[in-house]
Amino acid sequence: MELENAKKIIKKATEKLNLPKQILNILLNTEREVKVNFPVQMDDGTQKIFTGYRIQHNSLLGPYKGGIRYHPEVNLDEVSALSIWMTIKTATLNLPFGGAKGGVICNPKELSEQELENLTRAFIKKISSIIGPQKDIPAPDVYTSSKIMDTIVNEYSKIENIPIEKARAVVTGKSIENGGSLGRNTATARGGQFVLKQAIEQTKIIPTLENATVAIQGVGNAGGNFAKLIIKDNAKIIAISDSKSAIYNPEGLNINEVLEHKKQTGSLPNASNTTDITNEQLLELDCDILVPAALANQITEKNANQIKAKIILELANGPTTPEADKILENKNKLILPDILANAGGVTVSYYEWYQNINQEKWTAEKVDEKLKEKMQKATQEILDKKTKYQTTTRVAAYINAIERLAKKINRKN
Ligand code: GLU
Repeated sequence: MELENAKKIIKKATEKLNLPKQILNILLNTEREVKVNFPVQMDDGTQKIFTGYRIQHNSLLGPYKGGIRYHPEVNLDEVSALSIWMTIKTATLNLPFGGAKGGVICNPKELSEQELENLTRAFIKKISSIIGPQKDIPAPDVYTSSKIMDTIVNEYSKIENIPIEKARAVVTGKSIENGGSLGRNTATARGGQFVLKQAIEQTKIIPTLENATVAIQGVGNAGGNFAKLIIKDNAKIIAISDSKSAIYNPEGLNINEVLEHKKQTGSLPNASNTTDITNEQLLELDCDILVPAALANQITEKNANQIKAKIILELANGPTTPEADKILENKNKLILPDILANAGGVTVSYYEWYQNINQEKWTAEKVDEKLKEKMQKATQEILDKKTKYQTTTRVAAYINAIERLAKKINRKN
C-alpha cells in the first residue's frame, strides 16, 4: 500500500513538471533490493531465523542513505516505499545523498539486549558488502537506537578489518562517545519545530505557536522530543499517545510529568490530571496542530473528514494516505509532509557523517544553526512551489526534490 502511495505522488509531480517518461521510470524503480535470512543466537540457547531487508532506491545525488527499522510488520512493500521517501527527502534538503531503507522483521520489545545485539551483528554480516561510508549509510529508525548504531560500527570494523575510527562513517545516529553528533538525537523533532514555525510565519494559518493547541500521536524519539521542545514555545499540548493508548487534558498536559510517568510505569494511562482516550480519538481532537509521530497510514479516507486540526505536521513517515490528503487539502488544512517535516533527522545525519569523514567535532550550537537554516529554506521553497504549481504541499515538496534529481539525470545523459 505504501509503495503504491509513494509512486502515485511521484507520478503526479513528474506530470506537473512535464518530465519525460524516462525520468519517471528511474524514480519508480529501486536500484537494488536485498532480502536476507539469518540465524540469531537466543538467550535460551536456541537459534532463530530472522528476515531483513536493505532496499537501495536511488544514488543519483550521492551514497544511499536511510534508517533501519526493527518491527514485527516490516515488509518489502513498506521498506521500498520508505527507501523512495529517503531519496525524495535527501533531495528536498539538498543533501549529497541518495535514498535507502532497511528493516528486520522482529519484535524488539520481546528481545533481550543481548539478543538485539546478536540480531544486529548477524544482519550486518549479511549486508556488509553493500553498505559503507561511500556506498550506503544506515541510521536509526523505528525501534532502533544509538546503541544499535554503535554495534553496527563495531561489527562493520571487524568484518572489514579496519579500525573503529575508520568504520564510524558507515552509520549515523551513533552515541556521542562513539562518534555521534551533538543534536542528532533530537534532530527530527527540532527540524519539525523549525518547519512548523516557518510555515506558520509564511502562511499565517494560525497567529503563532504560542498558545496553539497541539495533539501528538507518538511519544518516541520524534513525538516525545517534539513535545519537550514546543512547550518552550508555550504551545499547549492537549493530548499525546503511545502505541497502546492516549491521554488528554483540554487545559494542557504537564509534559514533563507525563513523560516521567511513562518512564516509571511504561505506559500513559493514569498520569495525573489526564483523561484516557483512544489513538483514534486523539487524531480527531479539536486542536490547531496535529502531529502524527508514530507509524504510517493513520489518517485515511475513513477519518480525514473528522480531522479538525488546521495544520498536520508529519513527523512519522507516511502517516497520511493520498485519499486523505485530497480530503484535507480540500478543507484547506496545511499539511507539512513527512519528507520535509521529519527531515531534520537525516540532515543532522549528514552533519554527523561529514564530521566523521573530516574528523571534526561541531558544537551543539553550530549543528542547530545549520539545521535551522536548512529546514527554513526547504520550507520556504516548498510553500513557494505550492503557490507556483497550484498543488498540494506534498506534491510541491516532491516537485522541489524531483527537479533536483531530474537535473542530475539530464546531466548524465
Ligand atoms: N530514519 C530517519 C528517516 O526516516 C533518519 C534517516 C537517516 O538519518 O539516514 O528520515
